[in-house]
Amino acid sequence: MSAIPITVAYGDGIGPEIMSASIRILQEAGAELDIEEVTVGEKVYLSGNTSGIDPAFWDSIRRTRVFYKAPLTTPQGGGYKSINVTTRKTLSLYANVRPARALAPFVETKHPEQDLVVIRENEEDLYAGIEHRQTDEVFQCLKLISRPGSERVIRYAFEYARANGRKKVTCFTKDNIMKLTDGLFHKVYDEVAAEYPDIESEHWIVDIGAAKMADKPENFDVLVLPNLYGDVLSDVAAQIAGSVGMAGSANVGEHAAMFEAIHGSAPRRAGQNLANPSGLLQGGIMMMAHIGQSDVAERVHNAWLKTIEEGIHTYDIFRDSVSKQKVGTKEFADAIIERLGKRPETLEPVSYEGRAGIPDAASLPARAPAKRELHGVDVFLDWTEDNRDPNVLGEKLSAAGLDELPLTMITNRGLKVWPKGAPETFCTDHWRCRFGGYVDGPEVSQQQIIDVQQKVHDHGFHIIKTEQLYTFDGEPGFSLGQGQ
Ligand code: NAD
Repeated sequence: MSAIPITVAYGDGIGPEIMSASIRILQEAGAELDIEEVTVGEKVYLSGNTSGIDPAFWDSIRRTRVFYKAPLTTPQGGGYKSINVTTRKTLSLYANVRPARALAPFVETKHPEQDLVVIRENEEDLYAGIEHRQTDEVFQCLKLISRPGSERVIRYAFEYARANGRKKVTCFTKDNIMKLTDGLFHKVYDEVAAEYPDIESEHWIVDIGAAKMADKPENFDVLVLPNLYGDVLSDVAAQIAGSVGMAGSANVGEHAAMFEAIHGSAPRRAGQNLANPSGLLQGGIMMMAHIGQSDVAERVHNAWLKTIEEGIHTYDIFRDSVSKQKVGTKEFADAIIERLGKRPETLEPVSYEGRAGIPDAASLPARAPAKRELHGVDVFLDWTEDNRDPNVLGEKLSAAGLDELPLTMITNRGLKVWPKGAPETFCTDHWRCRFGGYVDGPEVSQQQIIDVQQKVHDHGFHIIKTEQLYTFDGEPGFSLGQGQ
């Protein structure tokens, strides 16, 4: 077998120790790797480069398309950017795969049967980082969910389930409230699920779904989640399986994949041969399956399970009741290497036979774009006059409407306050004023939208932003006011 080129960053803090241990284990198990080492993180940040990334890194990753990354330290303050976020977004590593399996009774957990994988959408949602302060009182963060972004991570989750012999893919959203954004993720999930009749599918509203997962994680198999819910719930899943320190993750895209531990650089433990290399090793095992060396993945995974069940533990998981020997990073790696070729007896051994591990990113089928029509505009105002009485605002602003684009509604924090608002409703200084928005009415022009804004301005109001109201194939592309 010819060696597969990979890019490796030894990282900061405990990074170099756990990366050396992990690579030694993989190589002793027969991994054929051609390692290109790159420097990213603290050294690069402190040399004055706020991205923390040396330009040579991008050349390497474009060549190898595989990045094995030890934890990095992000210095506090100083405008330093997260390398994880930059790498994920620049290379479009859209699927974050995080297995969370219990190792009871050897690692303490309340959920001994847990064996699930969280697949988190990695690029969109509230993490686009588009935020604005719009008025004195109100701040905004845009939640962006796209059809291709949703479709590729959801397809990936079903492909992953199939490739790894898993039976069910569960989706969580909050589409009873966020009908358009989370609604899209749910809709695409239903469409894709229909193409995989061999895999069971189910959807839960995220609040009750998360409660069920934390209570009975053994009832879940693969979960596919929008970015924010996935971020939160993948940590919950890792922690209730036993320890965040034992979990690895893969970040997969069309152009490259990145493998890592989910924990940080634990600077206080650095250089003392104390750290547990298991999380990074789990990332390495996923990498071996990804690059087609599944035999190595299986050998290392089973030897690691055997080491854990024999009670050879680093300090972080050591417990007098089950542990036999407290070891350092190097000795833990030695113990795994001694057990290569062995399988666990109490814990269930893993088999990678016939499994693709982390499948390559799925490409999307082509689809025709929907027909878009313009039907109105939401004009957002900063307004604090007349005791913030919505009826006064409605009366004054009605004069700014056109025959084709009359003022139809005013909301405050999403709740309809005009016409016919409730006197008890608290109003901030941030108002959404809708002109038009009749789905069945005639299409309006961009010029009419601009004319409305001009009239709003001429009546002395301060516009902070506008949103066009479109229909797509006749369906409204905008939410109605709550209480409407
Ligand atoms: P951390 O994960 O480094 O440490 C949290 C706790 O877990 C500490 O008590 C630490 O000693 C322990 N711990 C973590 N990994 C361990 C291991 N392998 N073995 C034994 N004990 C372990 O989180 P933190 O202290 O919040 O962050 C430290 C630094 O790591 C920060 O600069 C942060 O920005 C960075 N960080 C990097 C990544 C990454 O590179 N993916 C992720 C998270 C944090």
